[in-house]
Amino acid sequence: MQNFFNFCFESEFYIKIAISCAIVQQGFYFLLNNIEVNFITQVLLYWLVGSISFYGIGILIEKGIKSNDILKDKLTARVKKVKNQPFPSFTLKGIIIGEIKAFISVLIILYLAPEVHRGNSLILNIGWFLMRIVAADFCFYVAHRLFHTKTWQKIHLKHHEFRDSSSFVAGHKSFLEYIIVTITDILPIFIFGYDITQICAWSIIGNAYNLEGHSSLSIFFIPSDFHDLHHSCFSGNYGIHGFWDRVFNTLNSPTKKRGIMFPVSLIEYRVIKSSNSIDIPIASTVDITMESIE
Ligand SMILES: [Zn+2]
Ligand SMILES: [Zn+2]
Repeated sequence: MQNFFNFCFESEFYIKIAISCAIVQQGFYFLLNNIEVNFITQVLLYWLVGSISFYGIGILIEKGIKSNDILKDKLTARVKKVKNQPFPSFTLKGIIIGEIKAFISVLIILYLAPEVHRGNSLILNIGWFLMRIVAADFCFYVAHRLFHTKTWQKIHLKHHEFRDSSSFVAGHKSFLEYIIVTITDILPIFIFGYDITQICAWSIIGNAYNLEGHSSLSIFFIPSDFHDLHHSCFSGNYGIHGFWDRVFNTLNSPTKKRGIMFPVSLIEYRVIKSSNSIDIPIASTVDITMESIE
């Protein structure tokens, strides 16, 4: 029973990503459908979509959601407390350097990958994005696990300067790590080609779950303190989400957040609660782990 719920829990994350990407892709499709978009326009669009969504979503989480104490308490996913470590303010120089790196990456990616048109079939798009998130999670798992070996660790230490996390820690990494992580993320489009509407959607949703995953909150995509535990313990939980860690036995069991946005955890909690016939009070800020119920 527990294995079944764990599988559903991992699948819920993948399905959410696939459906969200497919919905955003529809928007880009209707926007660009009747327009001839040349190479330079595609580069500018992909770059701007990535940058605006990164800063936009990050600011929304850090300055919007986290400044509201009630909302912050309700959404907090982190259970294992660590020392407060505010993320330093952005500097103009830092932003410009970051954007130059992002622009060059976008230019190289779109130049090397073949262009294809996949249309706007919702089912086909959901299938494509489902394949991409499972593949991206696997590639990231492999690369990230290598980053934690003695030989490769140097590349990754910058990202681990923060045990406490702010959304923007998502982008806090060495240049070499940035290149390797970008390659693991976009590998399928070098093989199968890119559709501009799909990569723009992938970029927005990718930024959303990556920023949320570093925010210590469970808002919509991130259903546990999975990556918080990685930052506070420095080992285990190498994937984007727990699926591959469960497969390769490197999972540091996260505390699942249950609620309307995370129905699998909610159902699991209710089923276990009713089968145990014990009265467990509803947690307000910190949810009770499934492990502690058993
Ligand atoms: Zn790491
Ligand atoms: Zn991280």
